[in-house]
Amino acid sequence: MKFADLHLHTHFSDGTFSPEELTGHGLRLGFAVLALTDHDSVEGCAPMAAACASSEIEFISGTELTAEYNDIEVHLLGYFLDIYNERLLAEIAKFQAVRQNRIREMVARLNHLGVPLETESVFALANCKSPGRPHVARALTKAGLVKNPDEAFERFLKKNRPAWVPKAKMSALEGVELIHAAGGLSVMAHPGLNRTDEIIPALVDAGLDGIECFHTKHSTAMSERYLEIADRFHLLVTGGSDCHGFSKGKPLIGTVRLPYEHVEKLKAMVESRKSGAANPP
Ligand code: AMP
Ligand code: ZN
Ligand code: FE
Ligand code: FE
Repeated sequence: MKFADLHLHTHFSDGTFSPEELTGHGLRLGFAVLALTDHDSVEGCAPMAAACASSEIEFISGTELTAEYNDIEVHLLGYFLDIYNERLLAEIAKFQAVRQNRIREMVARLNHLGVPLETESVFALANCKSPGRPHVARALTKAGLVKNPDEAFERFLKKNRPAWVPKAKMSALEGVELIHAAGGLSVMAHPGLNRTDEIIPALVDAGLDGIECFHTKHSTAMSERYLEIADRFHLLVTGGSDCHGFSKGKPLIGTVRLPYEHVEKLKAMVESRKSGAANPP
């Protein structure tokens, strides 16, 4: 049996592994396929493709876009993307700027609360274009201002805590369209975590291709529920660990092993789109 992990982060967003290290873990754990899905970034895809090629692992380029529909946050995974697509890169750059400004604002709030964190220390630690709250949490820990990242989230960074700043997000309908325009498949990430069930029909109408049924934080019952939903709406099925390296305790790669048959269905869909576009009826 061949298995895939289709949800992974590197230090090009808030993971701690390099693409090469992540590929090494994938190889050690016997994965046949890996997909990289950094938040609002595709920068790690080229180095990860090269690392996977030398390890004889099949690689799928991807990203995880933070989007919203009716004020509900939804994470959209894009797979098989053209990572040089100009429109995709322009949108990503826009949301990376949003992330960087949000870091400045969160640090300003912390300073206002009497927590002497420096913005530059967060950017230095993040060392990427797509910084997020985990970087703030780690910088606070490193500076000795909290005991650990969990404390940072609990005291300051969780939604509605005093240093939390809302993030401007792209519309989920635009996100689906953007992924398609870059030649990719759009997949709703970890629906069990975001309570996004009510918006599934609207996203399906907008062209959503799949749903992440298997995720580290999905219970067996949740996975079964989303497999039924996938069946009902004719959606492709994906799964992944959402590994962030050591950013959230221990690395999660290996906790989800998606059977290869699902990857074959994803590839068949991408191929049929391509041939459809090349030979319009
Ligand atoms: P951001 O993109 O900046 O909003 O940060 C989102 C990241 O922070 C995701 O990878 C989440 O898993 C992580 N995160 C969100 N809430 C918490 C929490 N309470 N504790 C630890 N990590 C969290
Ligand atoms: Zn993350
Ligand atoms: Fe996510
Ligand atoms: Fe993720």
